[in-house]
Amino acid sequence: MPELPEVETVRRGLAPVMEGAVIARAELRRPDLRFPFPDRFAEVVTGRRVLALGRRAKYLLIDLEGGDVIIAHLGMSGSFRVVEERGEAVPGDFHVPRGKDERHDHVVLHLQAEGGPRRVIYNDPRRFGFMDLARREALTEHPYLRDLGEEPTGNALDALYLAARFRGRSLPLKAALLDQKTIAGLGNIYVCEALWRAHLSPERAAGTLVTAAGKPRKELSLLTEAIRAVIAEAIEAGGSTLRDHIRADGSLGYFQHSFSVYDREGQACRTLGCKGTIGRIVQSGRSTFQCAACQK
Ligand SMILES: [Zn+2]
Repeated sequence: MPELPEVETVRRGLAPVMEGAVIARAELRRPDLRFPFPDRFAEVVTGRRVLALGRRAKYLLIDLEGGDVIIAHLGMSGSFRVVEERGEAVPGDFHVPRGKDERHDHVVLHLQAEGGPRRVIYNDPRRFGFMDLARREALTEHPYLRDLGEEPTGNALDALYLAARFRGRSLPLKAALLDQKTIAGLGNIYVCEALWRAHLSPERAAGTLVTAAGKPRKELSLLTEAIRAVIAEAIEAGGSTLRDHIRADGSLGYFQHSFSVYDREGQACRTLGCKGTIGRIVQSGRSTFQCAACQK
């Protein structure tokens, strides 16, 4: 499943192609993805100029002239690719490589851009992705977006904010950090990475990182820094694949996912001076990777 850094990489890859371009034609090759397309979707977006490409949590927000916004979610297996005369490009790569089987090309946006005509193609073999439309002024009240917490990429995510959310709670840290009402778009991989970096056990109660007076303990400050750092580094790694792509003229450099703890069961812990081995436990039905020796 694409995580936030991958969605952000897709956004950064699509932005120079889509921003300023006009959607000349929108081709929907089926009536639905995970959900049916909204009524008149093709009609609403046709002839509209793309003003900006944004992101909230793992939602791409394609802002159109006239006040409509396309909300797009990649689901489990969705990806975009750009087709222009000089070849194809896939903006952003994933932990699991994307397929390019044309049978799964479900949406084709035909763009008129300054550099010539282009097609932005949405491919999704498992069809857990979806697209919706909203008015820009109503976006923050949209059911997908209204309950989301702070982004892990901005200054608003700080230790004071998390202290207020964690205070008095016996919920394990892993579950507390996956709660989208607390941190928007943070997923399983980067929660594991951040907890490992902050030397905190995923099973520890969230409330233990907060003093009785409601102040963040030092561990919570370190955890907040770790969350922001793992996300920022992953976005940076994604950005370098985009640069590689531009250099390589069409062939995308592979996104080197180098996780410190995620998916490393049985391997040596990379914490300096730690002799531990990475183990895997299951929490709420999902794998958590951790080093029991240095995460307390
Ligand atoms: Zn360790």
